[in-house]
Amino acid sequence: MLCPFTCSLSRNVAAGPSALRANRLPRKDDRRPPADYAVGPTRARCRLAYVARVDTVICLSEVTKRYESGQPALDSISLTVAPGEAVAVMGPSGSGKSTLLNMIAGLDRPTSGTVTVAGQRVDTLGESAVARFRRDQIGMIFQFFNLLDDLTVADNVLLPAQLAGVPRAQARARVDELLAVLRIGPHRDAYPGRLSGGERQRVAIARALVNRPALLLADEPTGALDTATGEQISKLLLDLNSSGQTMILVTHNPDLAARYASRTIRLTDGRIAASGRAAGHRIAGDTAAEVQQ
Ligand code: ADP
Repeated sequence: MLCPFTCSLSRNVAAGPSALRANRLPRKDDRRPPADYAVGPTRARCRLAYVARVDTVICLSEVTKRYESGQPALDSISLTVAPGEAVAVMGPSGSGKSTLLNMIAGLDRPTSGTVTVAGQRVDTLGESAVARFRRDQIGMIFQFFNLLDDLTVADNVLLPAQLAGVPRAQARARVDELLAVLRIGPHRDAYPGRLSGGERQRVAIARALVNRPALLLADEPTGALDTATGEQISKLLLDLNSSGQTMILVTHNPDLAARYASRTIRLTDGRIAASGRAAGHRIAGDTAAEVQQ
């Protein structure tokens, strides 16, 4: 099937992280990474990737997150993710999976270390800048869909585009395109409460994609669905990744990770305990995307 998700990312993959962020062709000074691009041992690799335009959508460098008491939720995590990768994050409850997603999405700040996503240092952004960053660069889907029940399907999907100031006609065209591709067009004027779980997750995926994010974060996307519907949503995510969409998938389901992710990272007590590349998966920038631990 021809990939339906006309993702601007593939156009920008060759253009470097700054261009990726700005949706423009690279300029000469894109080759000069900011002085604080990354810290610690990962710094050399992150900076090299930047200069060589071996793009990384995500570059975490020695990220530690400590809450008031107890051991750190994340303990010196270093990780790079290349454009087009689908990385599964697994681990027992309390191992730091949500904290990791929160760091990447700029929903929380590390106690130390740096978080760079789509060429942008996220951990140093102010409140409104980080909200803009999230709106423009990150799509998120959740186990329980998190749709707005008072808005129709079409308006749920439209909302992030409206908030981003996309011209109305353009935003509506994008919504129609996504609803058609995700086969929820007939439900465009329905309210989420009328839909099945699988349909709701399709709406949530459409909403996550409406602003063509550099990165899709999926937190247990099939966790609330029956097996058959979960399988359909998984296939959809696989199609999306095949089209070049970079994604991080938090899951408790080893089958899902093995079949649909190019790499699996296992967290234990806030550290990367293991990571492995799935056989047969190969993605752009593969060598530069090795896990650092
Ligand atoms: P997971 O998603 O793998 O279940 P989390 O990232 O939610 O794990 O949590 C990792 C650790 O951090 C846990 O010990 C949890 O109790 C702790 N933690 C997470 N969020 C907070 C918070 N806001 N305040 C204090 N401790 C937290």
